[in-house]
Amino acid sequence: MTIGTAVGVESTPIAVDVVILGAGINGAALARELVLNGLSVVVVDADDIAAGTTRWSTRLVHGGLRYLEYGELTLVRESLAERNRLLRLAPHLVRPLGFVVPVQGWFGGLASAAARILGFEACARRWAGERGRGGLTVACGLWLYDLLSTGSVWPRRCLVRGGEPGMPAVDVARYPLAGVYDDAQMVFPERFTVELLVDARTIAAEKQVFFNIFTRRTAHLEADGRLRVASVAAQNRAQDSEIVFVPRAIVNATGAWVDHTLGELLPAGGGAAGRLRSGEQQSGEHLTGQRLTRQRLIGGTKGSHLLVDHTGLREALGARGVYAEAADGRPVFVLPFGARLVLVGTTDIPFAGDPSTARTDADEIDYLVAAVRLLFPAAAPSRGDVVQHYCGVRPLPARRADGSTPAGITRRHMLVRLDGAPLPLWSIVGGKLTTCRSLAEGAAAEVLAVLGLPVAATSRTRPLPGACSLREGEELAERCAASGLVAGVPDAAARAMAQAVVGLFGARAGAAVGIDATRSDAGVADREAFQPLGDSPLPRRVVRFCLDQEWAETLADIVERRLLLAFDPELSMATLRAVAAELVRAGRLSAERSDSEVASFVEMMAERYGKRLQDQN
Ligand SMILES: Cc1cc2nc3c(=O)[nH]c(=O)nc-3n(C[C@H](O)[C@H](O)[C@H](O)COP(=O)(O)OP(=O)(O)OC[C@H]3O[C@@H](n4cnc5c(N)ncnc54)[C@H](O)[C@@H]3O)c2cc1C
Repeated sequence: MTIGTAVGVESTPIAVDVVILGAGINGAALARELVLNGLSVVVVDADDIAAGTTRWSTRLVHGGLRYLEYGELTLVRESLAERNRLLRLAPHLVRPLGFVVPVQGWFGGLASAAARILGFEACARRWAGERGRGGLTVACGLWLYDLLSTGSVWPRRCLVRGGEPGMPAVDVARYPLAGVYDDAQMVFPERFTVELLVDARTIAAEKQVFFNIFTRRTAHLEADGRLRVASVAAQNRAQDSEIVFVPRAIVNATGAWVDHTLGELLPAGGGAAGRLRSGEQQSGEHLTGQRLTRQRLIGGTKGSHLLVDHTGLREALGARGVYAEAADGRPVFVLPFGARLVLVGTTDIPFAGDPSTARTDADEIDYLVAAVRLLFPAAAPSRGDVVQHYCGVRPLPARRADGSTPAGITRRHMLVRLDGAPLPLWSIVGGKLTTCRSLAEGAAAEVLAVLGLPVAATSRTRPLPGACSLREGEELAERCAASGLVAGVPDAAARAMAQAVVGLFGARAGAAVGIDATRSDAGVADREAFQPLGDSPLPRRVVRFCLDQEWAETLADIVERRLLLAFDPELSMATLRAVAAELVRAGRLSAERSDSEVASFVEMMAERYGKRLQDQN
């Protein structure tokens, strides 16, 4: 991500209504909500947009069937309402996904579920039994899920016999029954987050309020409320320059880093010896005032995911996801991830270190592979089929709901205000991808109230910039493919290219490849820019679009968080070199550093994702 531009003389303080620290899905959604209400906003991130937990998630937009057992009815209702809304507002990125819950028998799990709802977690675990939740328990849960989902257009949930056509081919001998329901998948939360910020920029231009994004190296809050940010300049983030903001309020939306950020903002006691408050939240959480002397807000747990490349397993899964229990009763998702891969997650292990250092352990890989083998013995993957993994830390509240298991920690979000600070300063604790918009709406209402302003607008009915229906997407892909043909791209390649671009950018696909997609002939394409980006189906032109329009700056920004090539099983050295060449052409990378940039990216892919590239030596 690049430093914001056009901010005037460096040393001149910039007055702004709100500074948001953190450009994850929650910080981005809040920035958009505040700008929508006419406030000037600056977003400051330590890295890139969506470089934190947002991209390490299971990528589901869901009510959270399992939260019912923890009595989180308000959270489930809010999540289901948001799921239904995001399906309408961002259909290009949030897609319906059918699920099955494999069930071993009719009975079992009822007493355990009842104990859990009543808050007796220890009893719940003692009574859980080896056969998991039975058909009756699952049917009750699905009935309640239906009841809490207002405005859903999907068929009601039901219980069917295992092995029915169209269902994932799980082991019928072990699982003779299956609960069937629908939720949604956000395959690319990275792109969702970028689009929230693109929209914030558009709204800011319309309303003529200041909006910008910065990459920071350090940030320090002074006693007079000035925020000193050592900001990283463009050109490979080589130089620092200091920018001073004079905000009216700050929101710390740094997720799992919330405590680290407070420690840096208010070092050595300073304003941190204050009181914690929170406003009434959408999900009903209310913290009472309490002394704060560096009290921890986040008690994160790490969760790992695997990407499995196994043709038999992908075929056995089909178009639905499976929501099952591992041997120890923990929930496990087995999900389609594109046409070829299967996404498996997740673990839930307390984690107290720097969230950036969380990595998938060998034990977690074994655990998740074993869970899949139990479900699909006829298409059982081995460790060798795991082509990639990733790990992130959930920004959960430090206080536990029941003091026992990580799974029992509430998934509700809270907006916690620090009273001792020199200006209104809140931290966001918790939150899900699913509820980013409602969290933003609730947080904006509180910020506006404290600034003495009314809520003038909400994002409830505002689509994301790339929003388009499946049919509109198909028509757009046709026009892009036609343009590719005119530019000399062979027919099959032009179609693959068009689909890939529409899959990433939705209605913005025309702009991304530099054609006027509103014209029936789609305009004349730039032949050079339409040449493929290495071995990927994408055209070279999209790199320039991300650099110019989406705050991308580095190879990692492009490959991991704009074009999502990091998840492509076919990612090759040739593609990385092609991206680097585009960066050189755009003046963002020096030709001399190009090879070393590619080499260090490949090392990072091995260390962080356990991934080897197609043509790697
Ligand atoms: C394993 C796992 C599975 C999950 N699955 C789902 C799911 O399926 N569905 C769902 O709805 N939710 C899911 N979640 C929850 C969801 O992913 C997170 O709650 C959400 O992404 C948090 O977003 P955020 O914006 O608050 O934080 P983040 O995405 O972590 O963003 C925080 C940002 O702050 C930046 N930052 C850090 N320190 C500083 C600093 N000092 N100054 C400035 N910036 C800083 C980081 O670079 C980062 O960009 C899952 C979470 C995990 C871990």
